Amino acid sequence: MNTTHLSPLHRRELLRLLGLGGLAAFLGRNASAAEQAVAAAAAPAEAPNPAACYRRFHIGDATAYVLNDGYMPMPIQPMLATEAPAEELAKVLAAHFQKPVAEMPFNVLLVNLRGEWVLFDAGAGGFSAPTIGRLLPVMVAAGVQPEQITGIFISHAHSDHIGGLVDAKTKELVFPHAKYFMHQREFDYWTAPSPDVSGLRLPKEFISGMLEMVQTVLNKAKPKIQMIAPGDRVLEGIELIDAPGHTPGHFAFAITSGNEQLLHIVDAAHHEVLMFEHLDWTMAGDSTPALASVTRKKLFDRAAADRSRIFAAHFAYPALGYVRKNDTGYEFVHDRWTWT
Ligand SMILES: [Zn+2]
Repeated sequence: MNTTHLSPLHRRELLRLLGLGGLAAFLGRNASAAEQAVAAAAAPAEAPNPAACYRRFHIGDATAYVLNDGYMPMPIQPMLATEAPAEELAKVLAAHFQKPVAEMPFNVLLVNLRGEWVLFDAGAGGFSAPTIGRLLPVMVAAGVQPEQITGIFISHAHSDHIGGLVDAKTKELVFPHAKYFMHQREFDYWTAPSPDVSGLRLPKEFISGMLEMVQTVLNKAKPKIQMIAPGDRVLEGIELIDAPGHTPGHFAFAITSGNEQLLHIVDAAHHEVLMFEHLDWTMAGDSTPALASVTRKKLFDRAAADRSRIFAAHFAYPALGYVRKNDTGYEFVHDRWTWT
């Protein structure tokens, strides 16, 4: 199969939806996945009320929110378990009532630490697909205005995490009072004359589009970025954890308040079933896939040992839960929703 089997309208829709030139060609390796993604793109679900897209919870004394920035239909192969043998993947998906094309959510964490509103990443903004970039209305529905954000910790520089820093139309910065914090290694990687993208299993056109977008946003945001390194103490209660693999300077964060800790693993895992049962299944966008699995294991081991709650950018919303070790690997245990 190649994407010429799709009608021109469907191909355009897929490209528009994914915002990624060239990905349709890549998806052409897997006919049914590509076709299902296209079908979803051609008839996107009605956008939910922003007030239904946040969840308030607490980390000790701190109030926190999960803000859903939207979703994209994502073919599990080739995107989310690139190296998985087809039969094994089908077995795991069936056992967990999962479909071969997942609605991949984009979740952002907002925490109030001693009166400061702090975001962990800024969503996709207007730089990607039309089904994502809904962070602002969702945050406002939760009662927090962009002017109130004083700090933004950037986990890594993929477009779905930094696009929201800059208004795609006006090219102005969106959070006027926020300072940004970013791993020096991550910044250096993306702003190098030719970043090493040899580990990515994505089409060339997509990679060049991504580099252009990332560099546009980083150049605009640069004056407000404070470069940081793992272990730095930037804000009391936030531990910066080196978590490379998905990108070279990818951060995970441990946020502590009172006697509770939330481990935000961001993009160290992209699926709450597949990458728990199979630590070595990686996503096509990992810059160093083998290192991504090593990092994932470290974070899972830490969360399981500490029994701390975890949060991830792309697990099923609201993406809060726990890591349990079992005989064969790990499993994700969803957190219970509470009124308080
Ligand atoms: Zn991501």
